[in-house]
Parts: sequence; structure tokens; C-alpha cells
Amino acid sequence: MVFLTSYTVNQEMLRDSKKKPYGFELFVDEKQLGLNWRDGSKSRYGLEDLRRNCPCAQCKELRLRKSEESGLNVLVGDEICATSDVAQIEFVGRYGLKIHWADGHDYGIYTFEYFRALDNSNFD
Ligand SMILES: [Zn+2]
Repeated sequence: MVFLTSYTVNQEMLRDSKKKPYGFELFVDEKQLGLNWRDGSKSRYGLEDLRRNCPCAQCKELRLRKSEESGLNVLVGDEICATSDVAQIEFVGRYGLKIHWADGHDYGIYTFEYFRALDNSNFD
């Protein structure tokens, strides 16, 4: 029984580690971010989509406010200069990526969980 339990945990950990990327690639011309997962699969994400769905509190708030407004979309503040150009990408701990956008916005941490949810064709 003890053996079975620890076996299950190990399998779980193994599966979990495969769901993390070992690297990323930036496809500038296609405006896409590519992730290379440890299980050998690859995913591609549109930079514009990532920027539009920035997970930081500030952008979430902004999206919420916009969805509550009816119709008229007015660009405010940071939004005017919002870009999907990437200045830099770095790993954050073992759970995500931080994208530094060219306009200086870098609050959002895109977790691997989030990337997996976006591209669930690769994962069950
Ligand atoms: Zn943001």
C-alpha cells in the first residue's frame, strides 16, 4: 500500500515535469511565441493574443471595466501605446514566463498552467 502510494506520486511528478517547457523561441516575423515542452511537443502562441490577455492585475481590471461598458471602446492611458512587440522573455521560478513588452509593461507572469490552458490540444 505504501509502495503503491509513492509510485503514484512519482508518476504524478513525472507527468507534471513533462508539462513544463525547457525552452522558448520567439518568432518575430510571425509575431509568435513558441514553447518547447519537455514531452517533446511544441506550442505556438500569438503575441497579440498574449498581450491582450495579459494576466496582471492592471490589465485584468481594464478588461473587466471594458466588458462592463456598452459598445464604445475608448483607449485610455497605457492602452494607447500597448504593443505586442517583445523586449525580453525570462523564466520566473519553475512555474511561468515573464514577458517584457517593448512599451515597458512587464507586470504579467504567464504561468505554464496558463499556456497549457490556451493550447489544450497538446494536453489532456
Ligand atoms: Zn498587464
